Amino acid sequence: MVSTRRTTKAPSSSSRPSSPSPPPASPRGRKRTTSASTILRSGIKKNGEEEDIPISTTTNTTTKNHQNHGYEFGGPIGAICITILLPLTCYFLVFACNETTGCDFIESIIGLAKEKKKNSFSLLLIPEKMTPVFSLESCVLFLGWIGWCVMLHALLPASIVKEGVDITSGESGGEKTRFRLRYKLNGFRVFTTTAVACAVGTYFGQIQLRSLHAKFLSLLTAGCAFAFALTTFLYVASFRVNKNDKSKKNKEKKTRKSDKIDNGPVVLANGGNTGNVAYDWFIGRELNPRFSNSLFDAKVFCELTPGLIGWLLLNFGFMHEQYARLGFITKPMVLVNAFQLMYVVDALWNEPAILTTMDVTTDGFGFMLVFGDLVWVPFTYSLQCRYILENNVDISLAMTAFIVIVQATGYYVFRQSNGQKNTFRTNPNDPSVRHLKSLKTKRGTNLLISGWWGIARHVNYFGDWLMAWAWCLPCGFDHIAPYFYVAYFGVLLVHRDLRDGEQCELKYGNDWKRYCEIVRFRIIPYVY
Ligand code: NDP
Repeated sequence: MVSTRRTTKAPSSSSRPSSPSPPPASPRGRKRTTSASTILRSGIKKNGEEEDIPISTTTNTTTKNHQNHGYEFGGPIGAICITILLPLTCYFLVFACNETTGCDFIESIIGLAKEKKKNSFSLLLIPEKMTPVFSLESCVLFLGWIGWCVMLHALLPASIVKEGVDITSGESGGEKTRFRLRYKLNGFRVFTTTAVACAVGTYFGQIQLRSLHAKFLSLLTAGCAFAFALTTFLYVASFRVNKNDKSKKNKEKKTRKSDKIDNGPVVLANGGNTGNVAYDWFIGRELNPRFSNSLFDAKVFCELTPGLIGWLLLNFGFMHEQYARLGFITKPMVLVNAFQLMYVVDALWNEPAILTTMDVTTDGFGFMLVFGDLVWVPFTYSLQCRYILENNVDISLAMTAFIVIVQATGYYVFRQSNGQKNTFRTNPNDPSVRHLKSLKTKRGTNLLISGWWGIARHVNYFGDWLMAWAWCLPCGFDHIAPYFYVAYFGVLLVHRDLRDGEQCELKYGNDWKRYCEIVRFRIIPYVY
């Protein structure tokens, strides 16, 4: 998962949940060599005319986009272990924390339980109200949900069609062509259309969001099965072209103008092209899977639409269930729903920012991202709402006020810092950033050393983590389980900071070292 991230000055102001990211498994300073098997694609001009988007050509054997990785995540063995552990963790969080057994299991295994439980494993049960674990109905529902999102994505107009970052085509040692893919972005429209459909369906009694609680486990099973199937399909499909033949064919096509988009053959991701089946399946062999002559990009679609909106639907389902049980909605439920809604809306509103993230520019679309996007995010990030429902949590007004302050502070730091860098990267002469000090670099893109980015190298992560606390605190202090998110996310952000630091060192060399001397803290000012 480590490679060049931003090669263009595209906006990067948003945040979005991403793949579950285990701690770093590989040291810094790996040797990077060329692995290029990317092939030219073409795009479409505004007037509908076909247009290739080459940026430049080069015959270098290594480029920013084509550097092979050493193994990450513990190599093939690590990839297999993570593949097993991720779904197990999703189930574990349900079995270990539910209204049938309570949430004592986790405390009992780490020795925090108030009463010593003789048999901790009796606390680990399938919750009665969530059986069966597998149902065909839920499989159909899950597939229907994905189908609904694909349909809306295809039918609704794009809010914006945007170019991604540079990709380099060509075989190792051969001629390379740098080009950019184009993306249809309409996640926010998919979200609003779904919200309206749900509101109307609920009003007329056609949609019962509360039923998502009872179906939670079987939906999780359906999601896991879908993630394994989709990953395998993507892996097999990544072998679908004869690169050289297609490359020639592609070049011929360019000369015959047509009104169709030709997305061309496979572009392989550096990290997921090692030749080891288990590892490549996990990391993802193909960088930007596209299967039709359209702007539909499977990875960007999954990163933003079904998982994020699905997460909100689960949250609202838990809120609906609480209303049905109690006749009212509790403060913690309102808080967590509102905060997470705000987070997802923010991510969808700033959708173009996804194109510059390492998930999109670098990582293949393998199990790590497929599972992260479609299963991990909706089924583990909704833990707090489920916990509040199943444990009848309530909090004082003072605590509510405190949590709102934590969320507001976190959001302010997160949005301001991300926005400041985005403005600086897109228009350094903008009045809001013109006065900020920056470090000139040989690479050409300067680094901010005052303002938010002078306080800590990833102060935006700090804001995000503060929000994570605001999502967990409404769950009270009876159990540790709902704090899973804050702990996991802390590990993810520390890991991400290390990976980004590695990349920046590769991109900026000594300039990055100088920057680190000037801005000493990584994430939390004066602490870390
Ligand atoms: P960042 O937005 O932190 O961007 C890092 C990049 O910014 C660097 O690679 C570098 O790229 C540039 N940069 C670094 N320092 C400076 C500087 N001083 N001045 C100018 N540019 C600089 O990356 P992420 O994609 O990791 O995070 C984006 C947001 O997404 C964060 O707020 C994060 O919290 C959130 N997030 C949320 C997740 C979730 O599950 N909820 C998961 C992952 C991320 P270059 O110089 O090439 O421009």
